[in-house]
Amino acid sequence: PLCIAEDFDFFYFVQQWPGSYCDTSQSCCYPLSGKPESDFGIHGLWPNYKDGTYPSNCDSNNPFDLSKVSDLLKRMEGDWPSLSCPSSNGTTFWSHEWEKHGTCSESVLDQHDYFKTALNLKDNLNLLQILQNAGIKADGGSYSLSSIKDAIKSGIGSTPWIQCNEDESGNRQLYQIYICVDNSGSNIIECPVMPTGKNDGSWPKSCDNSIPFNASQV
Ligand code: 5GP
Ligand code: 5GP
Ligand code: 5GP
Repeated sequence: PLCIAEDFDFFYFVQQWPGSYCDTSQSCCYPLSGKPESDFGIHGLWPNYKDGTYPSNCDSNNPFDLSKVSDLLKRMEGDWPSLSCPSSNGTTFWSHEWEKHGTCSESVLDQHDYFKTALNLKDNLNLLQILQNAGIKADGGSYSLSSIKDAIKSGIGSTPWIQCNEDESGNRQLYQIYICVDNSGSNIIECPVMPTGKNDGSWPKSCDNSIPFNASQV
């Protein structure tokens, strides 16, 4: 049958800081594969439109199939751990990301390539190292928004978007880093538009100018 593939303009490649997922009121749980490393983990690779909106859940006939990524499983457990509770083996998180986002880029990347592309992007851009090289460490210290953005821009060549969340006491902290990738999934680009979060234009991602990079363990 003829399928009409969903079009999109570029991807946000989004990585999360585990300590900042965990010290919130929602809390977190180790994945069954073990305690994740103190490193950024993949949240997702999200197709987007240049106008800031994004498609989601594009193909209910193409559900996540773990057997299609068996060769990538070890890497997914290491680089794409799920920190939500209760502890899981990651399948729920990966299914969610594939079904909500990945199916919207299936015209370019099939399920195996979607996960491989995200894993390769993470390998090729060592954010933690890039930040450390600029003196920005997960040591509980605070850093200016511009110093974090400038460090990553020097390291990868393009400007990232920084998302903060709130810890249990309501203090904003470094949570996620968004990097834009072209719609082949292979080249980092300048973002055509910065993420606005919801299609409704609300702005849930603000940071203060001084941003704690927390040292808390998962
Ligand atoms: P998104 O926010 O990508 O639409 O959805 C994230 C979903 O994945 C939420 O339902 C969340 O509970 C679940 N999830 C499972 N593990 C994780 C994780 O480690 N980080 C985040 N951000 N969400 C996770
Ligand atoms: P400008 O684009 O003029 O630098 O910033 C416009 C507004 O967006 C300012 O309030 C600035 O603090 C905020 N902003 C700029 N870059 C980021 C970012 O990466 N993350 C967040 N959360 N806010 C940003
Ligand atoms: P939040 O409300 O935490 O910003 O986002 C919740 C979920 O909505 C994200 O995990 C992701 O699945 C989706 N989402 C939020 N912002 C964007 C965006 O700018 N682009 C895309 N494609 N999805 C987004």
